Amino acid sequence: MAQPASEAKASRIVPDPPTPRAPGEEAPDVWGFADSGFQVNAAGEVEFRGSRYAISGKRIPSLLPWAEGILGVRLDPADRRASGYPTALPPRVANEPLERALAERLPAESVSVDPRVRLRHGHGHTQEDMWAIKYGRLARVPDLVVWPESADEVRLVLELVRQHGACLIPYGGGTNVTDALRCPEHERRTIVSLDLRRMNRVLWIDAENHSAEIQAGALGLEIEEQLRRHGFTLGHEPDSIELSTLGGWIATFASGMKKNRYGNIEDLVLSISATTPEGPLARPAVPRESIGADPARWLIGSEGRLGIVTSAVTKVFPLPELRRFGSVLFRDFEAGFAFLRAVQRSGVVPASVRLMDNLQFQFGQALRPARTGLAALKGTLEKAFVTKLRGFEPERMVACTLLFEGRSKEVEAQERSVYQLAARHGGMKAGGENGERGYQLTFAIAYIRDFMLEHWVLGESFETSVPWSEAQALCANVKQRLWAEHAKRGLPGRPFVSCRVTQLYDTGVCIYFYFAFHYKGVEHASEVYAELERAARDEILRSGGSLSHHHGVGKLRQPFLPRVFSPAALAWRSKLKAALDPENVLGCGNG
Ligand SMILES: Cc1cc2nc3c(=O)[nH]c(=O)nc-3n(C[C@H](O)[C@H](O)[C@H](O)COP(=O)(O)OP(=O)(O)OC[C@H]3O[C@@H](n4cnc5c(N)ncnc54)[C@H](O)[C@@H]3O)c2cc1C
Repeated sequence: MAQPASEAKASRIVPDPPTPRAPGEEAPDVWGFADSGFQVNAAGEVEFRGSRYAISGKRIPSLLPWAEGILGVRLDPADRRASGYPTALPPRVANEPLERALAERLPAESVSVDPRVRLRHGHGHTQEDMWAIKYGRLARVPDLVVWPESADEVRLVLELVRQHGACLIPYGGGTNVTDALRCPEHERRTIVSLDLRRMNRVLWIDAENHSAEIQAGALGLEIEEQLRRHGFTLGHEPDSIELSTLGGWIATFASGMKKNRYGNIEDLVLSISATTPEGPLARPAVPRESIGADPARWLIGSEGRLGIVTSAVTKVFPLPELRRFGSVLFRDFEAGFAFLRAVQRSGVVPASVRLMDNLQFQFGQALRPARTGLAALKGTLEKAFVTKLRGFEPERMVACTLLFEGRSKEVEAQERSVYQLAARHGGMKAGGENGERGYQLTFAIAYIRDFMLEHWVLGESFETSVPWSEAQALCANVKQRLWAEHAKRGLPGRPFVSCRVTQLYDTGVCIYFYFAFHYKGVEHASEVYAELERAARDEILRSGGSLSHHHGVGKLRQPFLPRVFSPAALAWRSKLKAALDPENVLGCGNG
């Protein structure tokens, strides 16, 4: 990487490497860490294993009874559909000359053909991915996995793969939710999964210029650990921060929950270094520049098709002086939504503002650990105050969680402004504890999908962005469409369809939907789910929403591309790929 002025170099800090991750820390077959997750205890109640999260080690007795009521089916805690993980693998396509060349040039521990390792590198975290590895089959998985330790090794591997007629798929944390890591079924060449995870260092922090160069394979947690030691943060906090990487964020156009303060990934990245079939791309980072279209920026959202990101120079920010959570209850979704718009219009926007609809609010309540003694009494009194004295209806009320970060005075000013607006919209302050709980739950909730799958409930989330003027109608249309599609197929019970607004912009919002149904007795349930999700996406597009706000296209949403791009735009995309990678070495086949 070319260096800027020498005095800037003098201000650079080289952080120590991140704490090594324990082997086997990540579960291969479900979301998250192997030591954590929902399970049914001997008493038939749900509990959360482990010690990582606020909910860990706690009993959650209301969850299954509440889910039964919502889904309109009986959920017997003892009736579990055991996972068949790992399902059978397709035959490996060996390439002896390539494997020999790799063995000659790289340490033995940099290459693996272990079936379990290859399986894990052949999927991300879509519902279809999880189903396939437990109850179905992946039609194709990588034939070998390589872990480079430097940009030079990335270059070497790409060159060898090209020379030996194989293809390559970059792998970050494997957390995508777009089937981006699924291997094309009909690929006859050897597929190499290039796992960047050993390239996990913050190479330098420029304390004077508030920037840092970070290797692409660093997990969000590793980045924050290395920056925090020197008083900085990147501020990018996707809900998958524990297990996703900088390279993955760049390649998928990611967005973090605190984007109001720090920006989305495209705002944070100043320059990208990458290895491509044409050769390396690397440029110095400057605050902004006008140099025509910068090819390195085409890598943002490229989903592994154009090059391998090896590192990026990003902005970094001093750690906030103060971090405070908050929450507000509103009578209904409309009131909460009007509040969000007022917050955005006021120009005083906290780092994160999220609005949950009623069902999701109820879900949050059902996930409350069992309370006893004084805590239980406090809970009962609070509930009585909200519902009896304030007249909020439990079946309509919604919750908004808030996260304020910054200098103390700034946070206090934001709180004053936000709570004044909340009061004007009939909101009732529900405290920092509930706000913090809401944000903490985000990480634990990520585990619920895999748990429910074994209890005959198939579910997933998907997102979109939409102008303010269309947002409420879009929410209603998508919910209605999913109810109708569920009924049309005569699926058991009732569907769970819920939404939350997670990001605010001057021009609109990002909305997440959560959809699940009981699938016992349903044939080809995963395909049925996929069909319904496609129907929801159709409805989103009809209602003025985007194909995706931040998850990307992968293979999952490829069929919708002609609805969002003109034929000319599609031709540009495919010609760009063909010109930059004529042998299709980067062979993941993404949109
Ligand atoms: C529970 C959960 C919560 C999530 N929350 C969020 C959220 O809040 N915000 C958000 O934006 N997303 C979220 N996601 C989606 C996912 O975490 C993001 O898409 C993330 O950016 C993927 O990063 P990764 O490192 O896991 O990439 P991977 O899944 O490994 O790869 C994704 C794509 O990027 C390519 N790629 C990976 N690394 C590189 C590289 N170095 N160079 C070139 N291409 C590369 C791969 O080939 C693939 O096409 C969530 C997912 C889950 C399961």
